[in-house]
Amino acid sequence: MKDSAAGQRGVPRLRLRITAAAESAVRSGHPWVFSDSVLEANRTGQTGELAVIFDKKDKFLAIGFYDAESPLRVRILHVGKPQTIDAAWWAGRLEQAVAKRRDLFDVSTTGYRLIHGESDGWPGLVLDRYDTTLVVKIYTAAWLPRLEEIFGLLRDKIPCERMVLRMSRNIQAQAGKEFKRQDGQVVYGTVPEGPVIFFENGVRFEAEVLRGQKTGFFLDQRENRREVETLAQGRRVLNAFSFSGGFSVYAARGGAVSVTDLDISAHALESAKRNFALNKHFPGVAECRHETVQADAFEWIASGPERYDLMVLDPPSLAKRAAEREGAIAAYETLNANGIMKLAKGGILVAGSCSAHVPAVDFFEAVRRAAIKSGRKFTELKRALHPADHPAGFKEAEYLKVVYLKFEQ
Ligand code: SAH
Repeated sequence: MKDSAAGQRGVPRLRLRITAAAESAVRSGHPWVFSDSVLEANRTGQTGELAVIFDKKDKFLAIGFYDAESPLRVRILHVGKPQTIDAAWWAGRLEQAVAKRRDLFDVSTTGYRLIHGESDGWPGLVLDRYDTTLVVKIYTAAWLPRLEEIFGLLRDKIPCERMVLRMSRNIQAQAGKEFKRQDGQVVYGTVPEGPVIFFENGVRFEAEVLRGQKTGFFLDQRENRREVETLAQGRRVLNAFSFSGGFSVYAARGGAVSVTDLDISAHALESAKRNFALNKHFPGVAECRHETVQADAFEWIASGPERYDLMVLDPPSLAKRAAEREGAIAAYETLNANGIMKLAKGGILVAGSCSAHVPAVDFFEAVRRAAIKSGRKFTELKRALHPADHPAGFKEAEYLKVVYLKFEQ
C-alpha cells in the first residue's frame, strides 16, 4: 500500500512515542491511541499516513493510521513484530474477514456485514453486502488516499456487480475537495435505479445504498428480527422506531394479527410499506394488517389508549458522547416504562439500545427498573448482544444490546 507522506523522497517515516498507559492498552489489543496520549513525534504527521509507535525501550510496538484532525490520533493496524503494510498484507486481512463469515449464512441471506471496522482489523471502515452490491463506508479521512487500492482489492476478491462509497458526515467536505469523492458515489458498476433488493432469512428487503442511514439498512438486528418472528403468532405488534419495517415484516411472517410501524420519518415508513409489499407471497404477510404512524415515538408511546401484545422499542443512539450517558439511561427507563403501560396482558417487550456510551449492564438495569416500577409480574426471556458478522473486539465497540421481557399480567 502506498503511503503518501513516507513515499516522498527525504520524508522520514512518522515515529511516535505514547504514554505508558496507552502503550499497555495498545499491547493488549486496544485499537485506538488518543491525541492526548501522544508524547512525542519526529515530525508533523499527515492524515492518512502510517505512523510507527515505538515503546519506551525504543522498540517497534505498533503501526497504524495517523489522523491529524481526529482525537483518535492513531488507529492501530498491527501490534507486535515490525510489519510492512503492503498490498499482500491487506489481501490477507480481507481474507480473514471473509473467512469469518463463510459459514454464517446460506443462500436465504444475501445481506450481511463483511468487514466491521476495528473489530475486523479495518479501523474506521465497514463493508456491507446487499446481494450483488457492496457498500464501503468510511468513518475516518485516513482512508481517503487509499481508496483506489482498497476498491481494487475488493473487486479482485469479492465478486460484485457494483460498489458504492459512503462516508461519515465529518469527512465529506474534505473528501470532495481533496479527493473528488462524494458520499453515495458508485465507484464500480452501474448506478442503481432505486433501492437494492436483498434477502435476509428468506425475507426480501430493500436497502437504500446511496443515501440511506448507515449503509442503507440495519443489518445488525437480523437475529432479533428472527426472534421476533418466533414470538409474533396471533399478536398485535408495535414496532417503534421502525425505520424500514424490518422487525415488522418478520413479525407478520410469524403470524402477527396486526403490525404498526411508528417512525418520525415519512421516508422510512414509505420504505416499510414497500418492504411489506415485497413479501406478500408469505401468507402471514398477506394476512397481517399493516399500518404506519408518523410521529415522535417518545411522545406517541406516552399517550393514547392503544394496547399491544408485542412491542419493539429500538430507538436511535441516545448518547452521542460519554457525557450524555446518564441522561440516556434515564431516557431508556422512561421510554420503556411508557412502553410497558401500552402492553396488554401476556405482552412481550423487546427493548433495544445501540448507544455505545451506555454499557449493556446499565441498559438492562434501566429496563428492569422500568419493569419493576410497573408493578406487573414479568419474566426475562432473553438477552442478546452482537451478531457474529458485527463482532465487538473491544469495549468501545460494544453498542448493541436487546432484552426481552414478558409481562404475565
Ligand atoms: N429498528 C430499526 C432501526 C431503527 S433506527 C431496524 O431494525 O431496522 C432508528 C429509527 O428511529 C430511524 O428510522 C429514525 O427515523 C427513527 N427516529 C429517530 N428519532 C425518532 C423519534 N423521536 N420518534 C420516532 N422515530 C424516530
